[in-house]
Amino acid sequence: MGDPSGIKMNVLITDKISERAVSSLKNQGFTVDYRPGIDKEEMMDIIDKYDVLIVRSRTKVTADVIDRGKRLRIIARAGVGLDNIDTNYAINHGIIIINSPKAATYSAAELAIGLMIGVARRINLFNNDLRNGKWSKGSYEGLELRGKSLGIIGFGRIGKAVAGVGKALGMSVNATDIMNIEKEANELGVKYMGLEELLMKSDVITIHVSLTKNTFHLINDKALGLMKKDSILVNTSRGEVIDTKALMNYLDKLWGVGLDVLEHEPPREDWENELVRHPKVLVTPHIGAETREAQERMVDELIGNILEAAKQVIR
Ligand code: NAD
Repeated sequence: MGDPSGIKMNVLITDKISERAVSSLKNQGFTVDYRPGIDKEEMMDIIDKYDVLIVRSRTKVTADVIDRGKRLRIIARAGVGLDNIDTNYAINHGIIIINSPKAATYSAAELAIGLMIGVARRINLFNNDLRNGKWSKGSYEGLELRGKSLGIIGFGRIGKAVAGVGKALGMSVNATDIMNIEKEANELGVKYMGLEELLMKSDVITIHVSLTKNTFHLINDKALGLMKKDSILVNTSRGEVIDTKALMNYLDKLWGVGLDVLEHEPPREDWENELVRHPKVLVTPHIGAETREAQERMVDELIGNILEAAKQVIR
């Protein structure tokens, strides 16, 4: 990537990112300490040496970390969600926050569609049976998505990408958002409606909101109660958007659930383990952005944004 930037900054990377990102930063003249998986105690011991901290979703950048990071000028999140960073606290301390919001859009959208189809056709159960030597054709009923109504909660980048595929599959697509999306939705052939109406009308619901105070447990007992019998719920946003304990009480009513994200990753409570083993639940370990293409795009987007921010800092 280009000529060295001439910027002299120390960078600490505490989560796993691509080797290319590490070498690109070095080529730009940054001094890089790549410590994926470092624990909090160790990070607290060394954080005061760095100008830039790069994380993904594992590292929690809380106020105490920011206080200890006396030299920190930039916190970079490789990915979209900033819910693991105390952004207000950081900004109040003059730290620039950046992320790479666009890189994973299509990978996350494709996974959401994959989970929908997987749940509708019980792919997890058939696959499991065959692995155990059982030819279980005829054992489970499937559903077709064509002609069904797809309800999208959060009509941002990923929500819109999912809408496009949903339409291509022959689904009628509805969406809800806190922003005024009606005009844009109409242009894309998507019907805007409020959350309650969407919950009551959809055969398949897919969640694409960011995690905020307002979206924490947005899908709670009441919301689940409004969903149609035999409907499908997919979540590739953040685990905390669903009240998982409440969800356990609705597994009989729903056709099934596809989850890429959980309230605790990995699951730790007995009831969470019960959920991920439930035959109606198809679950993946937060792999929405884990494609070759998304990871490559993430590197370019992130490095570009870090360079921009670094130039602002030294200006
Ligand atoms: P985005 O910011 O483009 O879209 C989020 C949308 O949610 C916005 O339109 C926003 O207005 C809407 N929203 C916020 N609060 C809402 C509420 N209370 N009710 C209805 N709508 C609300 O973000 P995006 O790029 O589409 O990504 C969405 C989320 O997906 C990210 O925040 C991230 O948490 C998650 N994500 C997960 C993976 C993964 O690996 N599974 C990968 C990428 C992104």
